[in-house]
Parts: sequence; structure tokens; C-alpha cells
Amino acid sequence: MMLAIMALFFGFFLLIPGYFVGLGLIAVSVGLIIVGFILLAARYYVLARYASGIEKFRREAVVKVTCRYCGNSNPRSFEKCERCGAPLDWSSAKT
Ligand SMILES: [Zn+2]
Repeated sequence: MMLAIMALFFGFFLLIPGYFVGLGLIAVSVGLIIVGFILLAARYYVLARYASGIEKFRREAVVKVTCRYCGNSNPRSFEKCERCGAPLDWSSAKT
């Protein structure tokens, strides 16, 4: 994140003297600006993917499985029934 902002900052910073010095510096600054935008875009892409992963994890955590012995509804994180202690059958779990 800091790298993206720094690349953008130096890109714009170099653009001003680049007007006076020549094309070489303008090319460098434009390159830095492009790199900065790519890094920012990559960050948002990663965040979007990560956010959907968290949401999926939460949904799975909320899914309940019903004990076939006592009928108690247990959170998916439980390996054994909360009420009677019987092992929970995940193959019949409703998603
Ligand atoms: Zn049970």
C-alpha cells in the first residue's frame, strides 16, 4: 500500500521537473504513476477476494448440523453434539 502511494507520489513529483529536463524523466515518472495505479488496483483486487473469503468462512461457521440422536442443532465448528456428545455426521449436514 505504501509502495503504491510512494510510486504515485514520486511519479507526480518527477513530472514537474520532467517538463524542464526532458522526455527521459517524463517517461520515468509516467512509468512510476502506472506502477502506482497497478499496485493500487492489485490491492483492491486482493481485498475483494479476501473479503469474499471471510464472508464464506462466516457463512460456513453459521451453518448448523442437527444431531441424529437427540435433534440438537450444533454449530458447524463442533465435532460432537453439544447436548449429548454424539459424533456429528457432516455428510448429512445441510448447507
Ligand atoms: Zn445430540
